[in-house]
Amino acid sequence: MPAQVPIPVDAASRSARLFDSQGRAITDLRVSITDRCNYKCVYCRTGNQGALYSELPISDYLRLIRVFVSLGIEKVRLTGGEPLLRHGLLDLLRELAALRTLDGEPLDLALTTNGHLLESMAAPLRDAGLQRVTVSMDAVNPDAFHRITRVPGSFHQVLAGIRAAKAAGLEPLKVNCVLLRGFNDDQIVPFAEFSRREGVIVRFIEFMPLEEDRLWSPEVVIPFLEVVDRLATLRPIVRLTPNAASETAVRFTFDDGLGEIGIIAPVSQAFCGQCSRVRLTSDGKIRTCLFSQSDHDLYGVMNSGGSDHDLADFIQRTILKKEARHHIGEPGFLKPSRSMVHIGG
Ligand code: SAM
Repeated sequence: MPAQVPIPVDAASRSARLFDSQGRAITDLRVSITDRCNYKCVYCRTGNQGALYSELPISDYLRLIRVFVSLGIEKVRLTGGEPLLRHGLLDLLRELAALRTLDGEPLDLALTTNGHLLESMAAPLRDAGLQRVTVSMDAVNPDAFHRITRVPGSFHQVLAGIRAAKAAGLEPLKVNCVLLRGFNDDQIVPFAEFSRREGVIVRFIEFMPLEEDRLWSPEVVIPFLEVVDRLATLRPIVRLTPNAASETAVRFTFDDGLGEIGIIAPVSQAFCGQCSRVRLTSDGKIRTCLFSQSDHDLYGVMNSGGSDHDLADFIQRTILKKEARHHIGEPGFLKPSRSMVHIGG
């Protein structure tokens, strides 16, 4: 494991919590620790070519995350690519679990995975300090699952991974499903039944124009209200109160209180006004919005010998450039040049 890098907690950095020019507090960091992935989901990657990989040493992610934490980041989500492919993940988690926020609390430490490798890793992840896991799973029917991921035979492995994560106490366990008309819109009610049966939170995500292929169109998106209507065909649904103001999902249960469904609707009901997120790509660039047209090269500052103070300064200046909102569906909208597998979802 790399040598410890001292966290800069001088008085100046303590008073310098991250706010953007809209006055939004930035407390949530998503870090892509690889842009390799073992799936080729239709809404993310092209089925044809392998991605160009760019990863930093684990010790470099750790140093950059420490600087972010010194600026008020409270929640760190590791993602990718597929983070379970990344050598050194458990070491990184152990180091992150030891960090404290500016208020002296442990970090809220989470990870998003496709679950393919989760069954054997769930307990080691928990032992290394991971608190929660989100599993991306786009169908509860093996054939539909295969059509979307373009990887044969993985469905039952993911199911076993979800159950292992629950058994390991990585809860509440969330299962994320990106809905695409014509691919998996018949899975809404089966997923609700899955939530009720397996005791997991299922979250439907609207498809965003972030894929490598040209699949996105407004017609392929299953909007919020359509999901609500379909859920209500199973049983009467009941809206739950939000857990936090910056919560992206609108949450529902059923009239008997069994099951929890979230709907994340960045397209039909954008929530940019509450955004508290910033992303670090696997090549060490800051991405202030999923739909940014450019990234900000934090790694470049580090690689040219920048101090932690220089890094903090660069982060603060970059956060001030965070976009007020995205413009999906508006005239002149430009799709970002990088897909989710490179940005880090
Ligand atoms: N490999 C991990 C996984 O599958 O969860 C982490 C990376 S993946 C890019 C993170 C999340 O982004 C997944 O939940 C995935 O479904 C979501 N995602 C990718 N492309 C998307 C798109 N075009 N629209 C909406 N969500 C997308």
